[in-house]
Amino acid sequence: AATTRHATAASAARGASVRPSADADGKVRALLARMTLEEKLGQLQQLPWSWDLNPGSGSTRDVEDAARAGRLGSVLSVFGAKTTNELQRIAVEESRLGIPLLFGLDVIHGFWTNFPIPLAQASSFDPRVARTDAETSAREARSNGVHWAFAPMMDVTREPRWGRVAEGSGEDPYLTSRFAAAKIEGYQGSGYADKRTLAACAKHFVAYGGAEGGRDYNTVDVSESRLRNLHLPPFKAAVEAGAATVMASFNTISGVPAHANAHTLTGILKKEWGFDGFVVSDYAGVRELIAHGFAEDGADAARLALNAGVDMEMTSTELRTHGRKLLRAGRIDRRRVDDAVRRVLRLKHALGLFDDPYVDEDKAIDGPTARSRAAARTAAARSMVLLKNDDGLLPLKRSVGSIAVVGPFGDSGDLLGTWAVPQSARRYPSVTVLDAVREAAPGAKVTYARGVGPRGRDVTGIGAAVAAAKAADVTVAVVGEPPAMSGEAASRSDISLPGAQEELITALAATGKPFVVVLVNGRPLTIGGWLGSAPAVLEAWHPGTEAGHAVADVLFGTVNPGGKLPVSFPRTVGQIPVHYNHESTGRPYTAGNAYTSTYLDLPPTPQFPFGFGLSYTTFELGAPKLSRGSVAARALGRGDTVEVSVPVRNTGPREGDEVVQLYVRDVAASITQPVRRLRGFRRVTLRPGDATTVRLPLGKDDLGFWSNETTGEFRLEKGTFELYVGTDSTAKAELTLTVT
Ligand code: BGC
Repeated sequence: AATTRHATAASAARGASVRPSADADGKVRALLARMTLEEKLGQLQQLPWSWDLNPGSGSTRDVEDAARAGRLGSVLSVFGAKTTNELQRIAVEESRLGIPLLFGLDVIHGFWTNFPIPLAQASSFDPRVARTDAETSAREARSNGVHWAFAPMMDVTREPRWGRVAEGSGEDPYLTSRFAAAKIEGYQGSGYADKRTLAACAKHFVAYGGAEGGRDYNTVDVSESRLRNLHLPPFKAAVEAGAATVMASFNTISGVPAHANAHTLTGILKKEWGFDGFVVSDYAGVRELIAHGFAEDGADAARLALNAGVDMEMTSTELRTHGRKLLRAGRIDRRRVDDAVRRVLRLKHALGLFDDPYVDEDKAIDGPTARSRAAARTAAARSMVLLKNDDGLLPLKRSVGSIAVVGPFGDSGDLLGTWAVPQSARRYPSVTVLDAVREAAPGAKVTYARGVGPRGRDVTGIGAAVAAAKAADVTVAVVGEPPAMSGEAASRSDISLPGAQEELITALAATGKPFVVVLVNGRPLTIGGWLGSAPAVLEAWHPGTEAGHAVADVLFGTVNPGGKLPVSFPRTVGQIPVHYNHESTGRPYTAGNAYTSTYLDLPPTPQFPFGFGLSYTTFELGAPKLSRGSVAARALGRGDTVEVSVPVRNTGPREGDEVVQLYVRDVAASITQPVRRLRGFRRVTLRPGDATTVRLPLGKDDLGFWSNETTGEFRLEKGTFELYVGTDSTAKAELTLTVT
């Protein structure tokens, strides 16, 4: 086996956007030399502006006093150009050294204009969607005084019970890496100078998505190889894309909390990858080391976190409180404190805050614009996945005589998704499906009946919904989860449609009239109980500000759906974890063989596989070709690639998109490998009858893997690789590549 130690610090050099000029470096050094210990510890402190979730540190008075005393580096959740300017003025004009504050906010998939949730965006298999979200959010947020988005989240997960699946890109590390990089590039642009950019935060470092049982914040026990092959790749891609900051995660990693994990924070992130931005704690993650049973008290927590590599403490105040004492006792090191402060000041310099700390209040963007709405609408429609379409029920004809819209979300403006900025949610709710259907089919009689609530068990409204369905030519049932049921601290043990929504679908099916189910949700749902009775199902996720418009665009065929699932849909909760990129057992599944790794009462396959999604047209893939059937490991090591090319043709009646997907399997390796893993994809748009050839390169990173060594060993091993090319993760094996 050709084994290479990764020279990663060099590849991190692309992350140039955090790094200020030599001149600014000099200024940071000069400033550091003038700072007292209190001022240094202050730069490592972030306080929340208006939330009082963390007693003792949350009032606005505390924040102002700390800013005035030069004992504050950053503020969380502060909103609006006027407020940020006022606060900034205190720091810049009233503190001894006048160091500007850094304002951070959870800008997750929008500021004013909400794009679909990140899981939906990943369904587009088009990273430009994430980039557009980030560019739009950056313009809106920065003009309001925000410098720093706590996004993107890149936690890979195989746990649909975990609420935070909504915030990431699903179960695949490669897809997640591509979306993470695109989002960071969108936020950060080519630098921060033009004030239309935000510093990004790659979170949560690391393995948070591995939470046992899908319960938020739960324990993660993970091998080094799984850590490196599954959880770390998106973060590595993020560092290579220049992510300004990284946020530590709430979980433990094999017995060591992420906030005190020197191996991951310093060993891998800072040393191996050469990350030169700063690490922020997640909320009170430093203090929570006590609850983890890892730190004895607050001082111990501060020591452990700082020494492990956390640079800035969010909301809890252990380092600020105990720093001096810890230094005097030699339990922390002055150089480490300086290093952390330098990292923070460098970002402030890169953002230009020392030159111009304020925003122009007259130019603050105060809501979505026609342009941002159009971008969000396109993104939402591109993110939808057509799961079922019997007898071509969809697209609906605009000339239809009557339409019944039913279901708890049919007339709901609450489709922005988890983590919408509260002010935007209050002022700019989503366009409803009902309004958009009325707009799209102006000649039709459109009625609405809720049927059931989003969660409750009250079924008395079902009769009215059934009557509406009977009276209409077609029914659109909008069902799913309210946004508050996904996101942080929103794990579910049962991931079917909440409340009595399933009864509503069953009652609609009993009418015998055509109906379409539109799902609005933040995670994969178990839908096997009613799927058979629904003629058409569209997965719309939580689509954001333009929700209704985007749903109508797809229902009426203005947009031909082309999204694909970034997560497997389990048949039942008992089947979890079920994901395409699992390893093989010694007894792989073969039909008819009882002695395999499956359940007596379920097939081994999910309800819908990763990568799956239908269209209103049809596509045909031709035979894929490899540019060469064998390649030397040494050549790959030098950067050579092989290319897979595959012709794809639109064989159906209308223009549409297909996502060509390439999966790789290393047949025999020194560590057992996934049965396949995604290593390339491209979404193409083709008119009826048109064809194109998709070319996807494969290089060392696509064929090799990380070993189980804590020292970071990337292996590219000789032997046979099977390649699968198709339109979902069940694609057939068609090509063999030999690495010599
Ligand atoms: C979440 C983070 C978020 C932070 C700040 C935490 O509870 O885990 O993702 O950025 O709060 O709001």
